[in-house]
Amino acid sequence: MKLHHIGIAVKDLDTTMKLYRDVLKLRLLGVEEVEEEGVKIAMFDAGGVRIELLMGTKPDSAISKFIEKRGEGIHHIAFQVDDVDSVCNEFVKAGLQLTYPQPKLVAGGSRKINFINPKSTGGVLIEVLTEVRSSE
Ligand code: ZN
Repeated sequence: MKLHHIGIAVKDLDTTMKLYRDVLKLRLLGVEEVEEEGVKIAMFDAGGVRIELLMGTKPDSAISKFIEKRGEGIHHIAFQVDDVDSVCNEFVKAGLQLTYPQPKLVAGGSRKINFINPKSTGGVLIEVLTEVRSSE
């Protein structure tokens, strides 16, 4: 497992993006809105590890609810693995609770992800992901 990114929940993506881009001088890799999840995401490169800023776009989205309950701050950490499916099967065998029954394709099909419930990890939401390489 390799640390891939740290997800940070923010109230105002534009303002926080300026901090990371203009003051901390991190390179912006892209901005993406995921309508069905009610989230807007900005991804930065921080020397190999990435920083993922997440802003809820609807009051009932997971990020909006997180901020309402706990305030802005670190939301999850994400590890990259070679095969998210087999890793998740091992997690289930080890008794961990996962968010999705099967890893889910996101980011236009370029990544396959799942989350370990913080109840299983001492309070930290852990994402595991595999980058999907297109064969075309
Ligand atoms: Zn993430």
